[in-house]
Amino acid sequence: MPQNGKEVSRQVSTLWINAECVPKPPASKTSDIIISDVEKAEQRLARFAPLLATLFPELAQSGGIVESPLCALPPVVIGAGSSLPGSFWVKADHQLAVAGSVKARGGFHEVLEFAEQVARDNGLLVGEHGYQTLGSPAAREVFSHYEVAVGSTGNLGMSIGIMSAALGFRATVHMSAEAKDWKKRKLRSHGVTVHEYEGDYGQAVAKGRELAKANPMCHFVDDEHSVSLFSGYAVAALRLGAQFAAQGIAVDEEHPLFVYIPCGVGGAPGGVCYGLKHVFGAAVHCFFVEPEDSACFLVQMQNPDKPGISIYDAGQHNRTIADGLAVPRASELVYPLMRERLSGVVVTSDECMHADVWRMQALAGFKVEPSAAAAVSGPRALLQSEAGRRYIAEQGLQARMLRANHIVWTTGGALMPGDEYEALLLEGERASGRLFGALADTGGN
Ligand SMILES: *Cc1c(COP(=O)(O)O)cnc(C)c1O
Repeated sequence: MPQNGKEVSRQVSTLWINAECVPKPPASKTSDIIISDVEKAEQRLARFAPLLATLFPELAQSGGIVESPLCALPPVVIGAGSSLPGSFWVKADHQLAVAGSVKARGGFHEVLEFAEQVARDNGLLVGEHGYQTLGSPAAREVFSHYEVAVGSTGNLGMSIGIMSAALGFRATVHMSAEAKDWKKRKLRSHGVTVHEYEGDYGQAVAKGRELAKANPMCHFVDDEHSVSLFSGYAVAALRLGAQFAAQGIAVDEEHPLFVYIPCGVGGAPGGVCYGLKHVFGAAVHCFFVEPEDSACFLVQMQNPDKPGISIYDAGQHNRTIADGLAVPRASELVYPLMRERLSGVVVTSDECMHADVWRMQALAGFKVEPSAAAAVSGPRALLQSEAGRRYIAEQGLQARMLRANHIVWTTGGALMPGDEYEALLLEGERASGRLFGALADTGGN
């Protein structure tokens, strides 16, 4: 087994660079999304914050704002220890309150936007007033006549289901085969109706969309097309700008920022990337990370002439431990926005995600699920592969890498039950040994 980190990384993940990415994408006026949608989403989340603080005791301290900290990441987790240039951070969405994943921002936003509309239609809101009363029995009675439905591999259903039920909506989640039993149990304990499907995510969404159409009182959260969901996800980027400023971290062309985010349909990572490009322009370089057997965004990026292409067309099977990323097709809303904004896609293996679940815990104390652990492959691929070195050289970044900041975006995990997590850690320790050698070896190369 090779002990040298550089050799190892070539086997565990690969990096594809997007030749069409431009440093400063023009603000599109014709696309489905414009930046004012994101600003409106941020304002909407702020308007609802006092209500959320009363609905969820765990949000009392933050005044109802659901946000995650930016934490230092010991570079040893990535593998080559002290030899890596730059500073490493975790954007700790695995700790996001209530939903336990990146789906909190987008999912909560879409439910709240729907609630706002229903409340206005029923005279519960007048102008900017009345948000606090939306938790009252009278408002809940109104909401109980409406339904919110969604298709999910697990986490989106948790976010949509929990928020919908908390407001008094009827909530229905259509779960694909990957969805974990504990997520279904948790949702049912909140009074959410859970339908289970043998098929993949695309099929669960299609079924949910069809059933929702039959009920005029039902709002279907369409992960493959929703502007509301996307705008909510993108709010993270506006807030990250403020977080950097507060922590005294510089991001500009002399201090490049690299961001690595796990990708399913592309909604959550696409929203973050879209927002970050707006805030930081040429200073930020965004990379998605996907499982090798569910790399739908990469497949679409590599086949621009084949809209709607699936992973099956590319010979993949959608078999992965990353349940949050196990989807066959990229979002048609998000893909066009990423053509000029996304720097590249990293593809990684189940074995590597297992290893990184364990490494994040053993070496840094972060409790992340496999989908979130995928992000750790990002900096590894950029800093230790031939393609990554070429990207850095072509972008003229070599001299700035010591001042660079890298964000590993950990998208979920805090709510995982203990037994499930223990089993992942056991397997992960073995996987880490196979891929990266004994821990004592990971510090040097
Ligand atoms: C959903 C999810 C993602 C990816 O989000 P998409 O919008 O599907 O691309 C990443 N990580 C976790 C943990 C998720 O649940």
